[in-house]
Amino acid sequence: MSGSEQDNFDQASPSSPSGPGTFPSDPIVGIDLGTTNSLVAFADARGPRILGPGETPSEKVRQHDQDHQDHPDLVPSVIRYAGDAVEAVGTDAAADLKTHPARTVFSVKRFMGRSFSDRSEEASMVPYAVVEGPRGLASVEIDGRIRTPQEISADLLVHLRDRASTALGQTVKRAVITVPAYFDDSQRQATRDAGRLAGLEVVRILNEPTAAALAYGIGTRGATETIIVYDLGGGTFDVTVLQVMPPESDDAEGESIFRVLATAGDSRLGGDDFDRVLIQDLIEEAIAGGDDVDRSHRLALLREVGARAKIALSEADATQLILDGGGVLPDVDRLLTRAAFEEAAQPLVERTLEACRRAVKDAGLKITEIDRVVLVGGSTRMPMIREAVEKWFGSPGYVALDPDRVIAMGAAVQASVLAGIRRDALLLDVIPLSLGLETAGGAVAKLVVRNTMVPTRAVEMFSTSVDGQVNVALHVVQGEREMVADCRSLSRFELRGLPPMPAGIPQIEVTFNVDANGVLGVEAVERRSGRRARVQVLPSHGLTREEVAQIEADSYTHAREDMLVHRVVDLAVNAALDVKWIQEALSRVRDVLPGSTTDAVESHLVIVEGLIASARENPRAVDADAFQAAKESLDRASMPVHEAAITRSLRDDGIESD
Ligand code: AMP
Repeated sequence: MSGSEQDNFDQASPSSPSGPGTFPSDPIVGIDLGTTNSLVAFADARGPRILGPGETPSEKVRQHDQDHQDHPDLVPSVIRYAGDAVEAVGTDAAADLKTHPARTVFSVKRFMGRSFSDRSEEASMVPYAVVEGPRGLASVEIDGRIRTPQEISADLLVHLRDRASTALGQTVKRAVITVPAYFDDSQRQATRDAGRLAGLEVVRILNEPTAAALAYGIGTRGATETIIVYDLGGGTFDVTVLQVMPPESDDAEGESIFRVLATAGDSRLGGDDFDRVLIQDLIEEAIAGGDDVDRSHRLALLREVGARAKIALSEADATQLILDGGGVLPDVDRLLTRAAFEEAAQPLVERTLEACRRAVKDAGLKITEIDRVVLVGGSTRMPMIREAVEKWFGSPGYVALDPDRVIAMGAAVQASVLAGIRRDALLLDVIPLSLGLETAGGAVAKLVVRNTMVPTRAVEMFSTSVDGQVNVALHVVQGEREMVADCRSLSRFELRGLPPMPAGIPQIEVTFNVDANGVLGVEAVERRSGRRARVQVLPSHGLTREEVAQIEADSYTHAREDMLVHRVVDLAVNAALDVKWIQEALSRVRDVLPGSTTDAVESHLVIVEGLIASARENPRAVDADAFQAAKESLDRASMPVHEAAITRSLRDDGIESD
């Protein structure tokens, strides 16, 4: 194995600590220089974040972003040239790609550090001219000017550097840049050269799978782990087996080592192939007739429609494919189901798993020796991919971080470590803040309390508070306070498709599972129907050590008040159920009760309903003891109602059984 395939992870050095909001004077950013999209990220004591565009985007860019799901922080790796000048970079260039096919360069990463003879097949597949450049390198010729892939990448890096400088408010001169694990020395050197041409000091070239691991905090806890990074993007699939070894000594200056044990993949397999599967017949039709120009226009149109339908099927069980062919293509209006799509795409999924098996074998390992799988790349949002990986591997892959952003985030983590920014307090083996779930009335049920050692698991039963609820919203929160409003929201998800049942009847079992890396998996299962939903989050992201200490201090300051509020909220929830029950019973047995009894019950009901309304409005303004007393009075006053209701239902049963 060449030395360049090994990433050393330096533990934080205490030389230049940096608090939240204070940037080191010479920041180091992390850059994911991707084939399709590129991103720049920065990590401070709060953890990594992607740096977005500084200014309001132009109308055209906004429109393009809308088409691309509003992702202004992704910079399409696309550049348009006019003579000697760069005419457009990123979203602007991508938006007009079809108008200027010969002057717009995309996917230049495929040519980095490669000779022309090596890449002639790729060269024939792009609409811009790839020629033999200096030293036999594959280069791009536009308007008679030849540019190397390094130079083109440098123009992209300048754009990312400027974006970072604007976002951080200071000139960015240093960066960690990621490359695929299989990049050889000349491809790595070409990436370094691109950085230098862009006026950046490349402080480290980092393997993309290593970056993904770092984003998840793997390698910061001092345990040896063997992981697989499964990266399915738009046009390529890469799988890497990575071993993470703790520092040899315990001293803080030691380094964790990330070793690439094996790589496999397919440079011609990605999300685009899944699009094609979905609309195969339409594509065949489109290819059949017309001239070349016509054909490529029709294919491009179809591909867009296919990609959109595919993305819709990641969320829904079915989607309507509607195509206004505009005379160039037949009009289409058909229902696509996820089930049919998954069946048709199965061979593609199988090809990725085959590569995984190969990589594990090449690494000289057995699947049981792999500790976890990290999912990277936009196409891993497809449920079929997540399920296939889980089935093959035996437990769910890491999906807590956005698969399009995880590499840039990891590069930023590495950059922050090299810059000496410390986050160690959040990388201990305990859960720094309690984890819980929102319950009725905005209170929090804590499932895992702070300072619990990881890994840990907690299970609790919940139910519904409204009759006939078919969807249940779950809200995962973090913090020490009693009310959701005073905690940090981690994630919201829905358990859908429950059979309608009265409030309180569904049995929803919620499991919180925190693994050794601090990744939280939450799963909700409704026992009767077996419906399940789940979500994964990284609770330590976005928090500094100081903030954790502040949250803890606040919880002590507010302990008494919080407890009272929680009590009022619980009283309101229970009282509302009582009121509902009493009103129903009263309407059934009013005729057999003396007027004085019904009057008494009704006046108590008015009082309690008033308190419920006040508690919902502002639980802090309600006296818990007075509420409790009013609720107990109502319960006492309504005893005759309950008794009469029971008598009546026994009698009704008797009549029915006659
Ligand atoms: P990447 O190159 O990592 O940005 O991945 C881009 C690929 O991910 C494209 O093929 C997209 O169509 C695909 N993709 C993005 N979001 C989704 C989604 N929600 N479901 C399925 N595929 C997606």
